[in-house]
Amino acid sequence: MSHEWSSNTMLHKTLLHKTLSEQKRDLIAGEYSPLELTEAYLAAIEANAHLNSYITVLADTALDAAKSCDVNAGKLAGLPIAHKDIFCQSGTRTSAGSKMLDNFVAPYDATVVERINAAGAIVLGKTNMDEFAMGSSNESSYYGSVKNPWDEARVPGGSSGGSAAAVAAGLCSAATGTDTGGSIRQPAAFCGITGMKPTYGRVSRWGMIAYGSSLDQAGPMARSAEDCALMLEVMAGHDAKDSTSSTTATEDYAGALNTPLEGLRFGRCETFEENLAAPIREKLDLVAAELEAQGAVAVEVSLPHAHLAIPSYYIIAPAECSANLSRFDGVRFGHRCSNPENIEDLYKRSRTEGFGQEVKNRIMVGAFALSAGYYDAYYRKAQQIRRLIKNDFLNTFAAVDLILAPTTPNVAFRLGEKTDDAQAMYQEDIFTIPVNLAGLPALSLPAGLHDGLPVGVQLIGNYFSEARLLSAAHQLQLTTDWHRHTPGASS
Ligand code: GLN
Repeated sequence: MSHEWSSNTMLHKTLLHKTLSEQKRDLIAGEYSPLELTEAYLAAIEANAHLNSYITVLADTALDAAKSCDVNAGKLAGLPIAHKDIFCQSGTRTSAGSKMLDNFVAPYDATVVERINAAGAIVLGKTNMDEFAMGSSNESSYYGSVKNPWDEARVPGGSSGGSAAAVAAGLCSAATGTDTGGSIRQPAAFCGITGMKPTYGRVSRWGMIAYGSSLDQAGPMARSAEDCALMLEVMAGHDAKDSTSSTTATEDYAGALNTPLEGLRFGRCETFEENLAAPIREKLDLVAAELEAQGAVAVEVSLPHAHLAIPSYYIIAPAECSANLSRFDGVRFGHRCSNPENIEDLYKRSRTEGFGQEVKNRIMVGAFALSAGYYDAYYRKAQQIRRLIKNDFLNTFAAVDLILAPTTPNVAFRLGEKTDDAQAMYQEDIFTIPVNLAGLPALSLPAGLHDGLPVGVQLIGNYFSEARLLSAAHQLQLTTDWHRHTPGASS
């Protein structure tokens, strides 16, 4: 790193927190080079190692890529990004936050990784996450908790907590995440960034380690809606390698950002806002007022079955995870116990040693819910509830363009606060899980601070309305500075 760069820390900080879109313009204008930008992020990652946001830092390959990068050679050319460690990246450890995969070096690229590479991005590393994406606080990671850069005694949210913390702390330009029940939106809210879960099937799941296959969806986590649009343009699209990937045409997400809010109808759901913590309600009202000031119209809507989402999800997600995680048996790849006595012992001890407690709990619940005699009572019933929730949304979207909702019941909680209370931890996703059950797109955007901690609000849209959601968030971000707050710089 040149002397000029390392000596000017203010410039450094401003640069690291610029949006992806601003950095893209700067790189093309020759304000600085991909190498300078990459070096600045690598130095910041090192200086902030205590946040534990990265599991693997790929300094050498990032520097090599930056040196030979042509800034006009792709939509993300020269921009340093990070991948959640759930995406397979050829030649790189892909751990999914688990001891089970601590020694797993992926032999191929996930479609998301391949597309982001093809767009010219520079991969800084793989970010920390809850084990197999099961969690809401990043505390179930085999690699330890991630600290929230706004308050290091607090969680960053989960499961994409490493990606959220890295974006918020200025340790990458943008990151990828996955969202099965809230894992992009909840950490985005806790860390004061913008994150989008696209419609189920919009982004390929190929090469993404599976948790709940009917719910899992990859998406962007970044500093603004504009940045999410840029990332989504690269990530989205049909992929023949994922049989649930949609053939619906993608939209020009960046091109649609200037759609005005005039005439937009947004729903507010009373049951979602019942008993909501005051600071969250206050921010929701602020966002609603800003939408109205720009010509949007509020409409009262109802989602009568949304309160059944958590019990339904905690049957469906574990059922699917019990099937998906059966492949980790100590035989083909992953952790293998030493000196097995026989095949039974090999399976048993490899899985006992390789999986953490939360993952084991879920495998057991899922296997039970799917077993003969219980399938109808639990799994079938949960699927029926899922259909009712989806129908509620479909009825609602006949009357409104999007729904304005809380992302989380409160601001980021303290490390350790909920680790002994699974029910309390599961309640964290009360506003995000209904969206996954229905397969809809939604994003979380920052709406200001409460006691120095970020509050996020959620915009939920109809199927394949990503462009509308991103443009609504962008219009809000044009007239507000909520997404401009950075940890340590504002209160
Ligand atoms: N917190 C939820 C769970 O533990 C959602 C996680 C996710 O979206 N991956 O399952």
